[in-house]
Amino acid sequence: MKLEALHIPRVLRGFESAAAEVFDVRIEGAHVADIVASPVQRARGMLISAPVDAHVHIDKAFSVREVGAANGDLFTAIDRTARHRAQWRAEDIEQRMERAVREAWQCGTRAMRTHLDWPDAEPPVALQCFERVRERWHGRVTLQFVALTPLDVFADARAARRIAAAVRQAGGVLGAFVYRNEGIVHKLGHVLDLAQEFGLALDFHVDEGLDADATGLRAIAQLALARGLARPITCGHACSLSVQDAVQARDTLRLCAEAGIALVALPTTNLYLQGAWDETPLPRGITRIREAAVAGLRACLATDNVQDAFYPYGSHDLLQVFGLGVQMAHLAPATDWFDAITVSPARALELDWSGHIAPGCPADLVRLAAADEHDLLHAGGLQRTVIRDGRPLRQDEQQVEQYEETAT
Ligand SMILES: [Zn+2]
Repeated sequence: MKLEALHIPRVLRGFESAAAEVFDVRIEGAHVADIVASPVQRARGMLISAPVDAHVHIDKAFSVREVGAANGDLFTAIDRTARHRAQWRAEDIEQRMERAVREAWQCGTRAMRTHLDWPDAEPPVALQCFERVRERWHGRVTLQFVALTPLDVFADARAARRIAAAVRQAGGVLGAFVYRNEGIVHKLGHVLDLAQEFGLALDFHVDEGLDADATGLRAIAQLALARGLARPITCGHACSLSVQDAVQARDTLRLCAEAGIALVALPTTNLYLQGAWDETPLPRGITRIREAAVAGLRACLATDNVQDAFYPYGSHDLLQVFGLGVQMAHLAPATDWFDAITVSPARALELDWSGHIAPGCPADLVRLAAADEHDLLHAGGLQRTVIRDGRPLRQDEQQVEQYEETAT
């Protein structure tokens, strides 16, 4: 199969391209065989590696009609969801998860990391649902989970060890919701120690608010530098960086870069939950993506909540989220930031393939109708062909193996 006259964004090129901007790509079997400069000067579309979504919540996706939207208040959303969670039935959770993963798959996503609400020592019902969904989608969408536990629960040493043991057994990532907790450094230190002891990666919801004194991210970076953990640490949200003193925020990002922390910005949910609701919201809660890049830390953009109390709109199409992030954080030219939904999350999730397109790489690609950045936020430009294992996927199909090949 040959893909002709496509622009490949520079940040995704894992090959020497000199001055060329338009390429012909030959696919053999499930891999890219070669990439050459195209004789055509004008690109007819764009080729990116299949996106990786570093942060979603498929246990509660699509629950907004039952739970109700929280109209811009994070803690209202948390309370409502906690009450609603008590009635969750396994079949409903599994159906929501299945819908979310199918949607992501059809949009081209190759890997996804979901948080699962894990409010106490006991593993949640959602874990078993997730394990079944992970098994069903094996080989199509790589699924990872993070236990999302309030940080204060880790103050109970027995509960903390039970959670870590269950997460390890199920092949997951340890996580916590961190926001201006009392004794935050001590509690975080305990979580980092647990991760080290159990050989787990970490993924935090951290500083998701507009209080300048929310400094969990800085504490995590300092602890990580002091301990030198074997597995990676991912930090999502970091909204408070946006309202902190610029010098302090830059210094925190320098520490994060030094500690190898992955930073995940979540534009949809932050736009919805941050800022006033009784008047026009002015501060918007996006973290300092550009300052992070200057510090050498290339952030991820991820989907977060979809149609639940935390964000009542949206879908699991990471390219839509990317478009919003581009506008919200002035990520221009947009094509220079495609690593935010491919290479950077692939590293955070410790995936085998970096997401750079090069001869020999997996032919898990997305061909976009947009030929340049200006069409990337256009519905027509976002029309795409998803290529998985070297074969184009029809938007209506769920199984690659059902595809009847017509491509040359
Ligand atoms: Zn989240």
